[in-house]
Amino acid sequence: MARDLRHKSSWRPATRLIRSGTQRSAFDETSEALFLTSGYVYASAEEAEASFNGEKERYVYSRFANPTIAMFETRLAAIEDAAHCRATATGMAAVFSSMACAIKAGDRVVASRALFGSCQYVVAEILPRFGVETAFVDGGDLGQWRRALAPGAAFVFMETPSNPTLDIIDIAAVSELAHAAGARVVVDNVFASPILQKPLALGADIVVYSATKHIDGQGRCLGGAIITNDSAYEEELLVPYMRHTGPAISPFNAWLLLKGLETLELRVSRHCENAAAVAEFLANRGEAQRVLYPGLASHPQHELASKQMTAGGNIVSFELAGGKAAAFRFLNALRLIDISNNLGDAKSLATHPATTTHQRLSAEEQRAMGITDGLVRISVGLEDIEDIKDDLDRALAAAE
Ligand SMILES: *Cc1c(COP(=O)(O)O)cnc(C)c1O
Repeated sequence: MARDLRHKSSWRPATRLIRSGTQRSAFDETSEALFLTSGYVYASAEEAEASFNGEKERYVYSRFANPTIAMFETRLAAIEDAAHCRATATGMAAVFSSMACAIKAGDRVVASRALFGSCQYVVAEILPRFGVETAFVDGGDLGQWRRALAPGAAFVFMETPSNPTLDIIDIAAVSELAHAAGARVVVDNVFASPILQKPLALGADIVVYSATKHIDGQGRCLGGAIITNDSAYEEELLVPYMRHTGPAISPFNAWLLLKGLETLELRVSRHCENAAAVAEFLANRGEAQRVLYPGLASHPQHELASKQMTAGGNIVSFELAGGKAAAFRFLNALRLIDISNNLGDAKSLATHPATTTHQRLSAEEQRAMGITDGLVRISVGLEDIEDIKDDLDRALAAAE
């Protein structure tokens, strides 16, 4: 790399999204280069030796590090005001690696109940197979956190706002309880995105992302990231774990995500504007009951949401009185909004959580998470809001 323009700490957030992490090659390109290479060459056998014994820091193999991936990691760390960021192949690789790199048999994990389906599977099914004890609590109930943390814990895992019911967890309060119990706090910050909520500033130790969602934002590729200021965790646990188990992201995907960051603030702010309008539109319609959106004053945790998020996000969930049949009539009548379980995309997407993203859960577990047969989740996109409302209007009428 000829010129390292990585980061100025005086840069404001919008500048960091576009500039932080950039390294120019000898060709002085404007747009960040895509280094689609698995390996690197050495000028001499001595240089190769020095690179492997740690005397010389340089790129050795793209499972460990790659210039395009490093640009994405540096930029995302800058946005979070964090010292470290490691990109992963998917959001789930980030979630699993964030805990697997440090956890051992006999440790405990306490998690909020309302989680993305695969996160719930990791905590409920996979970790216990390795002798890890896990407990779930209602994220909004500090008394439950306190009781579950009493025996101590290695990790607290939470998602806020949660999927699909948009429950809000008090990150600062739970972090305090977790730290007293000796736990590291991992926050899955996907629904808020790096623009709306800063878990590290609120007391969390580790932030994980599915970059597949808003960071790409255009439905093109998978990716994830683990972000932290905990240097001991990063250097002694996470880096060796990633180096030797291989959840690395492709340089091509890292390049797409790096370019995605440049427009993230613009996109998220339009997403939020459109979602707030959709939430209001639905709240004023008799067909939609229990409209869930953290930005609505009627949301049970609106005050907490306003305290820890700068806007309500782009996901709106609501319930149709006619249960599954009404929800399916609604989805099948949509002409603009697509039926899809993805979210954070430029295109508006709608899904029926009970039969898709959360299908694996028992009826009882679904009920405990507030997932009813009539619940519909909308990821509000960037189309003209009037076209989105026209589509909802038509589909609500068809659902009756
Ligand atoms: C999508 C998602 C994940 C998983 O990310 P992938 O990139 O699909 O692996 C984890 N947590 C939340 C909240 C998500 O929405």
